[in-house]
Amino acid sequence: MKRQFAVIGLGRFGGSVCCALIEQGMEVLAIDQDEARVNKYRDLVTHAVVADATDEQALKHLGIRNFEHVIIAIGDNIQASILTTLILDELGVEHITVKAQNDYHEKVLTKIGAERIVHPERDMGVRLAHHLLSKNVLDYLELSDKHSIIEIIASTKMSGKTLMKLDVRAKFGCNVMAIKRGREIIVSPQATQLIKEEDILIVIGADEDIKRFEHEMF
Ligand code: ADP
Repeated sequence: MKRQFAVIGLGRFGGSVCCALIEQGMEVLAIDQDEARVNKYRDLVTHAVVADATDEQALKHLGIRNFEHVIIAIGDNIQASILTTLILDELGVEHITVKAQNDYHEKVLTKIGAERIVHPERDMGVRLAHHLLSKNVLDYLELSDKHSIIEIIASTKMSGKTLMKLDVRAKFGCNVMAIKRGREIIVSPQATQLIKEEDILIVIGADEDIKRFEHEMF
């Protein structure tokens, strides 16, 4: 059975979530109070409906509680975003992801049942900054306020050496989870794995440890 998602708010963020889910073969109900926005996605998604998400009856009528996951991508209207989250939680929707506009919004959302909160502008800003600060860092993912995953291009210092020789775990306390080599991905590489130039390392660890690793190995 296809997995069912509902996306509320069809701005740039909600719209791109809809497109990506459809591309992955999922069923998507798209909801917006703006008819023009709904029309834009009508031919793309499984169902597109004009509705005000703060109207509990309208959401009930759409059978929203039967959806496995609801994504609330309401933009600037923080009040509507909070109210919609509350209603969906009360209706028993199991998985709710909400786009937060700012830290206060995020704080309220965590208190009222949002399972996952995304902060795309802030998160993208942090990722870009890491990429700008180190030319080797391709991507950066914050796991918590103390732990991250980075994607980093192996330095010349590293190439031709095994993971054992580099001793990343003992020296820096972080772990190489995978190595991307062209189209190939070596998951959980062995200690005997040789690093080649242009390999991309996916490293997980505490922020401080990753920072030391970046500093000394690059
Ligand atoms: P983005 O920053 O992702 O582009 P926007 O602010 O442009 O976000 O889009 C948010 C969307 O959410 C708009 O299309 C708006 O009509 C919709 N929206 C806002 N409030 C509600 C609501 N109460 N019910 C349904 N849709 C809403």
